[in-house]
Amino acid sequence: MQVYLESLGCRLNTAETETLAQHFAGAGCEVVTAPEAADVIVLNSCAVTAQASRKSRHRLHTLHRLSPQARLAVVGCWATADAALAATLPGVMWIIPNADKARAVEIITGIEAAPAAWAPGRWGHTRAFLAVQDGCDHACTYCITRLLRGPARSRPFDDAVRAARDLVEQGAQEIVLTGVSLGAYGHDLGLDHGLAMLVEAILQMTAVPRLRLSSVEPWDVDEVLLRQWVNPRLCRQLHLPLQSGSDAVLKRMGRRTNTAQFAALVAAARAISPDIAITTDVIVGFPGETEADFAASLDFVARMAFARLHVFPYSERAGTPAIRLPGAVPAATRAARAARMRALGEQLAAEYRRRFIGQMLPVLWEQQDEGGYWRGLTDNYLEVATQSEHNLYNQITPAQVL
Ligand code: SF4
Repeated sequence: MQVYLESLGCRLNTAETETLAQHFAGAGCEVVTAPEAADVIVLNSCAVTAQASRKSRHRLHTLHRLSPQARLAVVGCWATADAALAATLPGVMWIIPNADKARAVEIITGIEAAPAAWAPGRWGHTRAFLAVQDGCDHACTYCITRLLRGPARSRPFDDAVRAARDLVEQGAQEIVLTGVSLGAYGHDLGLDHGLAMLVEAILQMTAVPRLRLSSVEPWDVDEVLLRQWVNPRLCRQLHLPLQSGSDAVLKRMGRRTNTAQFAALVAAARAISPDIAITTDVIVGFPGETEADFAASLDFVARMAFARLHVFPYSERAGTPAIRLPGAVPAATRAARAARMRALGEQLAAEYRRRFIGQMLPVLWEQQDEGGYWRGLTDNYLEVATQSEHNLYNQITPAQVL
């Protein structure tokens, strides 16, 4: 069986898709890089916003058009949220919700087998995305993810460390720890400071040159976790979802933080690691967000000097409390606010990058583009390109930021 896999959405989906590829290969399937060459196509879908759901649906149509003979399997969040609609799409043979995702390969192939080894680039990515946590116990009023992925649960500690060690032996130069609520890692295992313990253990017990955290909710970051950044192998990036820079909006969103606490956290992180890239997510046009709230949000985002911003216009999701809130913001206003917030994000990213121009920073080279340039990331998430006659793939070498 020839299998083509594709992933939409978050880094947890990326990690899970690579795990599926390992299991398909372990079951004797050939994992192919083009949908046209596949008998079976697996789409690990996303439903975090209405747009993401649309994208999942459109992508299935496109994949069917590209490869009409292939049977389609739709896996993950959109398969969970919109199973009935997914079943009507041409070519769709399997609908596998999150609850059954771990058994997806067995459901599709009928074979239960140990996974094949990971190798850099073998399933698409050079960096190794390691899923250590799933689900969420919080109650942010806009969020459908917790409804689709269920309560927070963690990969057992020893198993997570062992998986990291295996990835290093298989050639990983950078491991990215992922989860829906990564900062909650270990709570269900009875561990205090579980994520900090896991970071410390991986850094001590493996030789991984770089370890990165995908995203940590602000209320899960404390002194113990921040202290891990004294180790230079922990990449100088902290993705802290803000969602709004207005306290009134944060409260309606059910976020367990306010702007004063968030600013104090950013200051504490920069006190330990002055050049750390603080990156974030922001939602604009949440119900009841006034012009004054939005102005406060812009002002707070600017003051936090984020290194990168992901901006989402608010999207109504069935089953979430936010859809019952009064004060819906018109779609045109949401789009206009998103454009203004993105423009600010670009300006802040350029300002952050400017601080490093001329510096030599270690870069993990991940691909060579058509023009012959090697492209990679610094540990503080700057994109860098260089020309070299040597094969730099999956090496960490110094390069000048331009
Ligand atoms: S912390 Fe909030 S936004 Fe994040 S997954 Fe949980 S409920 Fe959703």
